Amino acid sequence: MSEKVAIVGGGIGGLCAALALIRHGIDVEVYEQAPELKELGAGVQISSNGTRVLYALGLGPAIERVGVVVAGKEIRLWSTGQTWKLFDLGAVSVERFGFPYMMFHRGDLHMTLLDAIRRERPGAIQLDRKCVGVTQHTDHAEIQSENGATTRAALVIGADGVQSRVRLAVFGADRPEFTGIVAWRGLIPRDKVPAGIKLDTGTNWVGPGGHVVHYPVRGGALLNFVGLLERDDWRVESWTVQGTKDEFANDFRNWNPLIHECIRCVDVPYKWALFARPPMPAWTQGRVTLLGDACHSMLPMLAQGAVMALEDGYVLARCVQKYGVAPQALQRYEAVRRERANRAVSGSADNARRFHNPDLAHAAGAEAYVTREWQEDKVNARYEWLFTYDATAVPI
Ligand SMILES: Cc1cc2nc3c(=O)[nH]c(=O)nc-3n(C[C@H](O)[C@H](O)[C@H](O)COP(=O)(O)OP(=O)(O)OC[C@H]3O[C@@H](n4cnc5c(N)ncnc54)[C@H](O)[C@@H]3O)c2cc1C
Repeated sequence: MSEKVAIVGGGIGGLCAALALIRHGIDVEVYEQAPELKELGAGVQISSNGTRVLYALGLGPAIERVGVVVAGKEIRLWSTGQTWKLFDLGAVSVERFGFPYMMFHRGDLHMTLLDAIRRERPGAIQLDRKCVGVTQHTDHAEIQSENGATTRAALVIGADGVQSRVRLAVFGADRPEFTGIVAWRGLIPRDKVPAGIKLDTGTNWVGPGGHVVHYPVRGGALLNFVGLLERDDWRVESWTVQGTKDEFANDFRNWNPLIHECIRCVDVPYKWALFARPPMPAWTQGRVTLLGDACHSMLPMLAQGAVMALEDGYVLARCVQKYGVAPQALQRYEAVRRERANRAVSGSADNARRFHNPDLAHAAGAEAYVTREWQEDKVNARYEWLFTYDATAVPI
């Protein structure tokens, strides 16, 4: 009987799970649909609960080379640019939560995980292997690939993102709902970043019906620039669809001139329609489970989607080590993870309402609104349960 764990999807979640399984002495292979592994030109924030996992995987020196530790986060008003502190990070994150809050170019984080896997198990990642089905048998599960290949494994992990084929095969079609929000993103080289935009800080501009996030990545060489806006006429959920700078600028007409200076300087503007999916009542069936966006995709307003995928991967590996390469391990993994991940899903939706609140329309009302909503104790209640979690030690 096979003792192998097969992971479908080589994104941040799938690769983290693979490396964690390797570190826990488990036989693992990853089946990725893309013919070549690369992540997109976009940023990803990884809070202390996620960097804790990366350090536990031995990636500390590697992530310190490519990530950026920002001094803190700020809130700015869409119209006047008035600024409020959200929280201090830098040394404060390490002091309070044990690990840094870091900003990455997604490609850098992905490559760090990939390099570590290839060093330890050069053949562990199979490319050009789009999964089109999964079936289960008494003592194994089988993955069918589009190219006709089949793979047997003791356990199958669907880490294949929002449009997961593993989820479709095991749980049937899902019910994505368009949130009415479109996310724009682009990168700006450091020397083109307008004066007035801080390069050592994460910034959230908040406004009625939209918000803008920017922060440095790739050791500070680039600024990741993301704008989310409520509009009803674009419904493609994709990382790779390009838009135009004129359309991006038009979505943010009337916003602060600094936002427009940034939009003019982004390299390529990409747009992605944000969909929400109701929480799944279960992630696991027999020898198959799901991980990351495949089972708990969330709006990006809490910056926790990838972080939750990292936590999932580490907890999954611990469960397989403890309970064996058997269905029981998957049941334990889901029992440990599902409630927390779903809480992050609803926290993200709450933040969407907070960031886009109509009270932000006028500077006078906005002052009172921001002061009330971003009071220190409220911020702590929203983030502390996330940042303190220890995937390496949580009881399994
Ligand atoms: C605008 C925006 C900003 C965000 N910012 C943050 C942030 O700052 N911090 C944060 O933590 N999260 C953030 N997120 C969320 C984060 O991007 C996701 O939660 C994360 O990428 C999920 O990782 P994953 O590995 O589960 O899925 P994915 O990254 O989607 O990876 C899935 C992988 O599976 C492969 N695949 C798909 N289908 C198949 C198939 N049939 N067969 C084989 N392989 C397949 C894909 O090619 C891909 O490699 C953001 C999201 C958006 C949209």
